[in-house]
Amino acid sequence: MSSHVQDLRASLAPLKWSNRFAGLGPDFYTELEPTPLPAPYWVSRNTSLAHELGLDAKWFESPDALSVFTGNTVIEGSQPLASVYSGHQFGQWAGQLGDGRAILLGEIETPGGPQEIQLKGAGMTPYSRMGDGRAVLRSSIREYLCSEAMHGLGIPTTRALCVTGSDARVRREEIETAAVVTRTAPSFIRFGHFEHFSYSEQHDQLKVLADFVIDNFYPDCRAAAKPYAALLQAVSERTAHMVAAWQAVGFCHGVMNTDNMSILGLTIDYGPFQFLDAFDPGHVCNHSDTQGRYAYNKQPNIAYWNLFCLGQALLPLMDDQAEALAALESYKTVFPDALESRMRAKLGLPDRQPGDTALIEDTFKLLAANKVDYTIFWHRLGGFDTAPGREAVRDLFLDRAAYDAWALQYSERTAPVDKGQRADLMHKNNARYVFRNHLGEQAIRAAKLNDFSTVDTLLAVLQSPFEDHRGCEAYAGFPPDWASSIEISCSS
Ligand code: AMP
Ligand code: MG
Repeated sequence: MSSHVQDLRASLAPLKWSNRFAGLGPDFYTELEPTPLPAPYWVSRNTSLAHELGLDAKWFESPDALSVFTGNTVIEGSQPLASVYSGHQFGQWAGQLGDGRAILLGEIETPGGPQEIQLKGAGMTPYSRMGDGRAVLRSSIREYLCSEAMHGLGIPTTRALCVTGSDARVRREEIETAAVVTRTAPSFIRFGHFEHFSYSEQHDQLKVLADFVIDNFYPDCRAAAKPYAALLQAVSERTAHMVAAWQAVGFCHGVMNTDNMSILGLTIDYGPFQFLDAFDPGHVCNHSDTQGRYAYNKQPNIAYWNLFCLGQALLPLMDDQAEALAALESYKTVFPDALESRMRAKLGLPDRQPGDTALIEDTFKLLAANKVDYTIFWHRLGGFDTAPGREAVRDLFLDRAAYDAWALQYSERTAPVDKGQRADLMHKNNARYVFRNHLGEQAIRAAKLNDFSTVDTLLAVLQSPFEDHRGCEAYAGFPPDWASSIEISCSS
């Protein structure tokens, strides 16, 4: 009898849960249950992530899983909660924010270590403020596909396991339908969590939080003479690598508020993001960002500004301000080094030569002056050594003379580089597919008519963006004319 009960439980709850964040205590969160959605249905399941997490494939297709990932069933062993954080939004202190529509279920043991599982859009929490606790189908599909696209590109990010939908209506600029996206990450702690306890002068909790992050995610910092400064430095370095990766692929986050900055240096909270089409350094993807604070070319400095806020928040744990400033210094060297090495790889240059910084700057200038499609340029550059390949790159430029001058400089630089090595480097660093806005629009339009096949196809393509996908050539093409009229704002 007892073994029969156990079997039944295993089939309902095959995940092994632990809840380290919950162990921090009630100052850090509110326990609550998700609010169910009527008649949920699957929009898409990320079976490769499910496999990585060690989820049972059959269970992941089951009605039980659908119910769990919509927030309609609380799975045994999980301890759902919404965490409290604060933050700077668009440069201003915004006070308390918190998980207004995200509910952490807990963390599961996986072959790659513990992973937290969070439902986004699963109902109101004490931190919902004016919001309804919901996410719409449109923004959930965007987050789902973009986080997997970023992962496919090798960029640190939260992941997305599935999207479920419901016909429940949600009011935004117009009436839309509700969806829930299930996200995973080792931790969803943000800079804003630290700011929260610092600004409210809860310094004991601030220390508990910093110790938790060090012990679980930055264990090397524990051995440092000044562990909290070492933490700030390590976060600065991870953030520098993340932003360098964004710049290299032409990714604009759109809302780099401190509450949207992961303490693990992961890309988090996909809202009005955009991959650049034509290269425009000053591009602002967020329609609500009227000042252009989060323009593409401002992201590196904004990340530093955000790290400064984190440093400010950690001051109560440090001897003096100089300690924090010193810890932040490394960003100023790690970021340019990381960006340069990514750009060298895109150019197919395996080693570093004195003129490379100038060559990279010239490349950016040339692309900007000619408003060249960023992804297509880099992909075509992979064929630069063949006569037709060289023409295919040249065709992208209006100012052929400027291109020819650049191409001469580039061929001189690449002349001594082994062709095979260069081709390999370029293939691995110049994606054929990025998740452009118009691709999201196509998937969303079909999904609104209950056709989720484009979501699934795009997921498969974007998870291996460096490969060719037969039949999906159009996804690698130029954006259609209507793409430039897509307006994405904070409302999601
Ligand atoms: P975001 O701009 O998406 O990073 O959100 C900023 C803050 O607003 C966070 O505290 C979110 O949890 C909260 N928020 C955003 N949308 C909603 C919503 N629909 N319902 C409740 N809270 C929300
Ligand atoms: Mg956010």
